[in-house]
Amino acid sequence: MAPGREGELDRDFRVLMSLAHGFMVSQVPRRGSYTNSALSSTFLVSGSPQSQRCMLLYLAGTTYGCWAHLAAGVREGRNQYSRAVGISAEDPFSAIYRSEPERLLFMRGLQETWSLCGGRVLTAFDLSRFRVICDLGGGSGALAQEAARLYPGSSVCVFDLPDVIAAARTHFLSPGARPSVRFVAGDFFRSRLPRADLFILARVLHDWADGACVELLGRLHRACRPGGALLLVEAVLAKGGAGPLRSLLLSLNMMLQAEGWERQASDYRNLATRAGFPRLQLRRPGGPYHAMLARRGPRPGIIT
Ligand code: SAM
Repeated sequence: MAPGREGELDRDFRVLMSLAHGFMVSQVPRRGSYTNSALSSTFLVSGSPQSQRCMLLYLAGTTYGCWAHLAAGVREGRNQYSRAVGISAEDPFSAIYRSEPERLLFMRGLQETWSLCGGRVLTAFDLSRFRVICDLGGGSGALAQEAARLYPGSSVCVFDLPDVIAAARTHFLSPGARPSVRFVAGDFFRSRLPRADLFILARVLHDWADGACVELLGRLHRACRPGGALLLVEAVLAKGGAGPLRSLLLSLNMMLQAEGWERQASDYRNLATRAGFPRLQLRRPGGPYHAMLARRGPRPGIIT
Protein backbone atom coordinates (compact mmCIF):
# COMPACT_ATOMS: atom_id res chain seq x y z
CA MET A 1 0.00 0.00 0.00
CA ALA A 2 1.34 3.46 -0.91
CA PRO A 3 2.56 5.54 2.05
CA GLY A 4 -0.29 7.50 3.60
CA ARG A 5 -2.95 5.27 1.96
CA GLU A 6 -4.09 3.80 5.28
CA GLY A 7 -4.75 7.34 6.58
CA GLU A 8 -6.72 8.07 3.41
CA LEU A 9 -8.75 4.91 3.92
CA ASP A 10 -9.56 5.99 7.47
CA ARG A 11 -10.67 9.38 6.18
CA ASP A 12 -12.80 7.77 3.42
CA PHE A 13 -14.36 5.51 6.03
CA ARG A 14 -15.25 8.48 8.24
CA VAL A 15 -16.84 10.30 5.26
CA LEU A 16 -18.84 7.17 4.43
CA MET A 17 -19.95 6.80 8.02
CA SER A 18 -21.13 10.41 8.21
CA LEU A 19 -23.07 9.92 4.95
CA ALA A 20 -24.58 6.73 6.36
CA HIS A 21 -25.43 8.66 9.50
CA GLY A 22 -27.70 10.91 7.39
CA PHE A 23 -29.75 7.82 6.49
CA MET A 24 -29.76 6.50 10.00
CA VAL A 25 -31.10 9.42 12.02
CA SER A 26 -33.64 12.09 11.21
CA GLN A 27 -34.01 15.42 12.90
CA VAL A 28 -37.21 16.01 14.86
CA PRO A 29 -38.52 19.33 13.45
CA ARG A 30 -37.93 22.41 15.60
CA ARG A 31 -36.95 20.56 18.77
CA GLY A 32 -33.26 20.21 17.80
CA SER A 33 -33.23 16.52 18.66
CA TYR A 34 -32.83 13.37 16.61
CA THR A 35 -34.65 10.09 16.29
CA ASN A 36 -33.90 6.78 14.55
CA SER A 37 -34.93 6.61 10.91
CA ALA A 38 -37.09 3.67 9.77
CA LEU A 39 -33.91 2.07 8.31
CA SER A 40 -31.98 2.23 11.57
CA SER A 41 -34.95 0.99 13.60
CA THR A 42 -35.21 -2.02 11.27
CA PHE A 43 -31.56 -2.89 10.70
CA LEU A 44 -29.47 -1.38 13.51
CA VAL A 45 -31.50 -1.77 16.69
CA SER A 46 -30.57 -5.00 18.43
CA GLY A 47 -34.15 -5.92 19.36
CA SER A 48 -35.42 -5.75 15.75
CA PRO A 49 -36.08 -9.20 14.20
CA GLN A 50 -34.26 -8.02 11.05
CA SER A 51 -31.33 -6.40 12.85
CA GLN A 52 -27.96 -6.55 11.04
CA ARG A 53 -26.13 -4.93 13.96
CA CYS A 54 -23.75 -7.80 14.72
CA MET A 55 -22.83 -8.19 11.04
CA LEU A 56 -22.00 -4.47 10.87
CA LEU A 57 -19.95 -4.71 14.06
CA TYR A 58 -18.09 -7.68 12.59
CA LEU A 59 -17.46 -5.84 9.30
CA ALA A 60 -16.25 -2.76 11.20
CA GLY A 61 -13.77 -4.86 13.19
CA THR A 62 -12.13 -7.92 11.66
CA THR A 63 -13.27 -7.33 8.06
CA TYR A 64 -12.25 -3.68 8.01
CA GLY A 65 -8.90 -4.66 9.56
CA CYS A 66 -8.24 -7.10 6.70
CA TRP A 67 -9.39 -4.63 4.01
CA ALA A 68 -6.86 -2.09 5.33
CA HIS A 69 -4.29 -4.48 3.76
CA LEU A 70 -6.09 -4.88 0.43
CA ALA A 71 -2.99 -4.01 -1.63
CA ALA A 72 -0.87 -6.63 0.18
CA GLY A 73 -3.72 -9.13 -0.18
CA VAL A 74 -3.87 -8.61 -3.96
CA ARG A 75 -0.07 -8.81 -4.27
CA GLU A 76 0.16 -11.98 -2.18
CA GLY A 77 -3.22 -13.52 -3.10
CA ARG A 78 -3.84 -14.58 0.48
CA ASN A 79 -5.75 -13.68 3.63
CA GLN A 80 -4.45 -10.81 5.73
CA TYR A 81 -5.00 -12.06 9.28
CA SER A 82 -1.30 -11.93 10.14
CA ARG A 83 -1.26 -8.17 9.45
CA ALA A 84 -4.79 -7.41 10.72
CA VAL A 85 -4.92 -9.43 13.93
CA GLY A 86 -1.39 -10.83 14.32
CA ILE A 87 -2.37 -14.46 13.69
CA SER A 88 -0.83 -16.29 10.76
CA ALA A 89 -3.77 -18.36 9.55
CA GLU A 90 -3.29 -21.40 7.35
CA ASP A 91 -6.80 -22.36 8.45
CA PRO A 92 -8.71 -19.05 8.39
CA PHE A 93 -11.12 -20.24 11.07
CA SER A 94 -8.35 -20.29 13.68
CA ALA A 95 -8.12 -16.50 13.16
CA ILE A 96 -11.88 -15.96 12.84
CA TYR A 97 -12.44 -17.84 16.11
CA ARG A 98 -9.43 -16.37 17.94
CA SER A 99 -11.48 -15.62 21.07
CA GLU A 100 -14.92 -16.49 22.41
CA PRO A 101 -16.27 -12.92 21.87
CA GLU A 102 -15.01 -13.00 18.25
CA ARG A 103 -16.59 -16.42 17.69
CA LEU A 104 -19.94 -15.20 19.05
CA LEU A 105 -19.87 -11.98 17.01
CA PHE A 106 -19.11 -13.92 13.81
CA MET A 107 -21.88 -16.45 14.53
CA ARG A 108 -24.40 -13.72 15.40
CA GLY A 109 -23.44 -11.64 12.35
CA LEU A 110 -23.82 -14.57 9.97
CA GLN A 111 -27.12 -15.71 11.42
CA GLU A 112 -28.62 -12.24 10.90
CA THR A 113 -28.54 -12.79 7.11
CA TRP A 114 -31.02 -15.60 7.38
CA SER A 115 -33.62 -13.39 9.10
CA LEU A 116 -33.71 -11.53 5.75
CA CYS A 117 -33.45 -14.31 3.16
CA GLY A 118 -33.27 -17.74 4.84
CA GLY A 119 -36.83 -18.66 3.86
CA ARG A 120 -36.23 -17.63 0.27
CA VAL A 121 -33.13 -19.77 -0.30
CA LEU A 122 -34.78 -22.77 1.36
CA THR A 123 -37.94 -22.57 -0.78
CA ALA A 124 -36.18 -21.93 -4.10
CA PHE A 125 -36.52 -25.73 -4.50
CA ASP A 126 -39.11 -27.99 -2.85
CA LEU A 127 -37.02 -29.87 -0.28
CA SER A 128 -39.92 -31.67 1.41
CA ARG A 129 -38.98 -35.10 0.01
CA PHE A 130 -35.67 -35.13 1.95
CA ARG A 131 -36.33 -36.89 5.27
CA VAL A 132 -32.96 -36.14 6.89
CA ILE A 133 -31.31 -32.77 6.26
CA CYS A 134 -27.84 -31.82 7.47
CA ASP A 135 -26.66 -28.20 7.38
CA LEU A 136 -22.91 -28.71 7.17
CA GLY A 137 -20.94 -25.77 8.56
CA GLY A 138 -24.30 -24.52 9.80
CA GLY A 139 -22.89 -22.27 12.56
CA SER A 140 -25.51 -21.03 15.02
CA GLY A 141 -28.23 -23.20 13.44
CA ALA A 142 -30.40 -20.29 12.22
CA LEU A 143 -30.78 -21.61 8.67
CA ALA A 144 -31.31 -25.17 9.95
CA GLN A 145 -34.07 -23.97 12.29
CA GLU A 146 -35.74 -22.23 9.36
CA ALA A 147 -35.49 -25.53 7.39
CA ALA A 148 -37.11 -27.40 10.30
CA ARG A 149 -39.93 -24.83 10.36
CA LEU A 150 -40.50 -24.97 6.59
CA TYR A 151 -40.20 -28.77 6.30
CA PRO A 152 -41.75 -30.18 9.49
CA GLY A 153 -41.67 -33.73 8.06
CA SER A 154 -37.86 -33.69 7.96
CA SER A 155 -35.39 -34.09 10.76
CA VAL A 156 -32.66 -31.47 10.60
CA CYS A 157 -29.17 -31.37 12.08
CA VAL A 158 -26.33 -28.86 12.15
CA PHE A 159 -22.74 -30.05 11.83
CA ASP A 160 -19.92 -27.67 12.78
CA LEU A 161 -16.65 -27.41 14.71
CA PRO A 162 -16.88 -28.45 18.40
CA ASP A 163 -16.43 -24.92 19.83
CA VAL A 164 -19.04 -23.55 17.44
CA ILE A 165 -21.52 -26.27 18.38
CA ALA A 166 -20.88 -25.62 22.09
CA ALA A 167 -21.50 -21.88 21.54
CA ALA A 168 -24.64 -22.59 19.49
CA ARG A 169 -26.06 -24.76 22.28
CA THR A 170 -25.18 -22.24 25.00
CA HIS A 171 -26.02 -18.93 23.33
CA PHE A 172 -28.42 -19.54 20.45
CA LEU A 173 -31.11 -21.84 21.84
CA SER A 174 -34.06 -20.46 23.77
CA PRO A 175 -33.68 -21.66 27.37
CA GLY A 176 -36.15 -24.41 28.22
CA ALA A 177 -37.49 -24.73 24.63
CA ARG A 178 -37.17 -28.09 22.86
CA PRO A 179 -34.61 -27.53 20.06
CA SER A 180 -36.06 -28.09 16.58
CA VAL A 181 -32.66 -29.22 15.28
CA ARG A 182 -29.92 -31.58 16.46
CA PHE A 183 -26.33 -30.34 16.84
CA VAL A 184 -23.38 -32.54 15.85
CA ALA A 185 -19.75 -31.54 16.51
CA GLY A 186 -16.81 -32.45 14.29
CA ASP A 187 -14.40 -31.41 11.56
CA PHE A 188 -15.96 -31.79 8.11
CA PHE A 189 -12.55 -32.56 6.56
CA ARG A 190 -11.69 -35.29 9.08
CA SER A 191 -14.59 -36.56 11.18
CA ARG A 192 -17.21 -39.10 10.22
CA LEU A 193 -20.17 -37.16 8.77
CA PRO A 194 -23.81 -37.86 9.70
CA ARG A 195 -25.78 -39.80 7.04
CA ALA A 196 -28.36 -37.54 5.36
CA ASP A 197 -30.68 -37.29 2.33
CA LEU A 198 -29.85 -33.62 1.80
CA PHE A 199 -26.68 -31.75 2.68
CA ILE A 200 -26.89 -27.95 2.79
CA LEU A 201 -23.64 -26.03 2.33
CA ALA A 202 -24.42 -22.33 2.80
CA ARG A 203 -21.50 -19.93 2.34
CA VAL A 204 -19.07 -22.78 2.94
CA LEU A 205 -17.49 -23.53 -0.48
CA HIS A 206 -16.61 -19.85 -0.98
CA ASP A 207 -14.22 -20.20 1.99
CA TRP A 208 -12.08 -22.81 0.24
CA ALA A 209 -9.94 -23.37 -2.87
CA ASP A 210 -11.08 -25.92 -5.48
CA GLY A 211 -9.09 -28.89 -4.10
CA ALA A 212 -10.59 -28.54 -0.62
CA CYS A 213 -14.10 -28.10 -2.12
CA VAL A 214 -13.84 -31.34 -4.12
CA GLU A 215 -12.45 -33.16 -1.06
CA LEU A 216 -15.36 -31.92 1.08
CA LEU A 217 -17.99 -32.67 -1.60
CA GLY A 218 -16.50 -36.15 -2.06
CA ARG A 219 -16.93 -36.81 1.68
CA LEU A 220 -20.56 -35.62 1.37
CA HIS A 221 -21.09 -37.99 -1.55
CA ARG A 222 -20.08 -40.91 0.67
CA ALA A 223 -22.37 -39.75 3.52
CA CYS A 224 -25.33 -38.91 1.27
CA ARG A 225 -28.02 -41.60 0.92
CA PRO A 226 -28.96 -42.84 -2.60
CA GLY A 227 -31.61 -40.49 -4.03
CA GLY A 228 -30.19 -37.69 -1.91
CA ALA A 229 -28.89 -34.29 -2.98
CA LEU A 230 -26.74 -31.31 -2.24
CA LEU A 231 -28.03 -27.73 -1.78
CA LEU A 232 -25.42 -25.01 -2.24
CA VAL A 233 -26.18 -21.45 -1.17
CA GLU A 234 -23.71 -18.87 -2.44
CA ALA A 235 -23.49 -15.38 -4.03
CA VAL A 236 -22.93 -16.66 -7.58
CA LEU A 237 -21.04 -14.57 -10.13
CA ALA A 238 -22.65 -13.92 -13.51
CA LYS A 239 -21.34 -15.73 -16.60
CA GLY A 240 -17.92 -14.28 -17.47
CA GLY A 241 -17.35 -13.32 -13.84
CA ALA A 242 -17.70 -9.53 -14.27
CA GLY A 243 -20.53 -9.00 -11.77
CA PRO A 244 -22.73 -8.43 -9.90
CA LEU A 245 -20.74 -5.89 -7.92
CA ARG A 246 -21.79 -7.25 -4.54
CA SER A 247 -20.56 -10.75 -5.41
CA LEU A 248 -17.29 -9.33 -6.75
CA LEU A 249 -16.74 -7.44 -3.48
CA LEU A 250 -17.57 -10.59 -1.53
CA SER A 251 -15.05 -12.45 -3.67
CA LEU A 252 -12.32 -9.95 -2.81
CA ASN A 253 -13.38 -10.30 0.80
CA MET A 254 -12.95 -14.07 0.63
CA MET A 255 -9.39 -13.55 -0.56
CA LEU A 256 -8.69 -11.22 2.39
CA GLN A 257 -10.49 -13.33 5.00
CA ALA A 258 -10.51 -16.93 3.78
CA GLU A 259 -8.92 -19.35 1.30
CA GLY A 260 -11.57 -19.19 -1.41
CA TRP A 261 -13.57 -16.89 -3.70
CA GLU A 262 -17.03 -16.45 -5.20
CA ARG A 263 -17.59 -18.57 -8.31
CA GLN A 264 -19.75 -18.75 -11.44
CA ALA A 265 -22.53 -21.36 -11.76
CA SER A 266 -20.34 -23.32 -14.21
CA ASP A 267 -17.56 -23.51 -11.57
CA TYR A 268 -19.98 -24.90 -8.96
CA ARG A 269 -21.35 -27.32 -11.59
CA ASN A 270 -17.81 -28.60 -12.28
CA LEU A 271 -16.91 -28.98 -8.59
CA ALA A 272 -20.18 -30.79 -7.83
CA THR A 273 -19.88 -33.07 -10.88
CA ARG A 274 -16.29 -34.03 -10.00
CA ALA A 275 -17.51 -35.06 -6.54
CA GLY A 276 -20.47 -37.11 -7.83
CA PHE A 277 -23.33 -34.56 -7.83
CA PRO A 278 -24.07 -33.99 -11.55
CA ARG A 279 -26.64 -31.71 -13.26
CA LEU A 280 -26.60 -28.88 -10.77
CA GLN A 281 -29.58 -26.53 -11.15
CA LEU A 282 -29.37 -22.85 -10.22
CA ARG A 283 -32.18 -20.65 -8.92
CA ARG A 284 -32.08 -17.03 -7.85
CA PRO A 285 -34.73 -16.51 -5.20
CA GLY A 286 -34.10 -12.74 -4.91
CA GLY A 287 -31.59 -11.16 -2.55
CA PRO A 288 -27.84 -11.71 -2.61
CA TYR A 289 -27.77 -15.50 -2.42
CA HIS A 290 -28.48 -18.16 -5.05
CA ALA A 291 -29.66 -21.70 -4.38
CA MET A 292 -28.18 -24.63 -6.36
CA LEU A 293 -29.47 -28.19 -6.14
CA ALA A 294 -27.64 -31.27 -7.45
CA ARG A 295 -28.84 -34.87 -7.10
CA ARG A 296 -26.38 -37.48 -5.91
CA GLY A 297 -24.98 -39.44 -8.88
CA PRO A 298 -23.77 -43.04 -8.64
CA ARG A 299 -20.05 -42.26 -8.47
CA PRO A 300 -17.72 -39.24 -8.32
CA GLY A 301 -16.73 -38.01 -11.75
CA ILE A 302 -19.55 -39.89 -13.56
CA ILE A 303 -21.91 -37.62 -15.49
CA THR A 304 -25.34 -39.29 -15.80
N1 SAM B 1 -23.48 -21.85 6.93
C1 SAM B 1 -23.42 -20.75 7.86
C2 SAM B 1 -24.07 -19.53 7.29
O1 SAM B 1 -24.19 -19.41 6.07
O2 SAM B 1 -24.47 -18.66 8.08
C3 SAM B 1 -21.98 -20.44 8.27
C4 SAM B 1 -21.07 -20.08 7.11
S1 SAM B 1 -19.41 -19.70 7.65
C5 SAM B 1 -18.82 -18.71 6.35
C6 SAM B 1 -18.56 -21.23 7.45
C7 SAM B 1 -18.92 -22.24 8.50
O3 SAM B 1 -18.10 -23.41 8.30
C8 SAM B 1 -18.65 -21.76 9.92
O4 SAM B 1 -19.77 -22.00 10.72
C9 SAM B 1 -17.45 -22.60 10.36
O5 SAM B 1 -17.40 -22.81 11.74
C10 SAM B 1 -17.66 -23.86 9.56
N2 SAM B 1 -16.41 -24.63 9.42
C11 SAM B 1 -15.21 -24.17 8.99
N3 SAM B 1 -14.30 -25.16 8.97
C12 SAM B 1 -14.94 -26.28 9.41
C13 SAM B 1 -14.53 -27.63 9.62
N4 SAM B 1 -13.27 -28.02 9.35
N5 SAM B 1 -15.45 -28.51 10.07
C14 SAM B 1 -16.74 -28.12 10.34
N6 SAM B 1 -17.18 -26.85 10.15
C15 SAM B 1 -16.29 -25.94 9.69
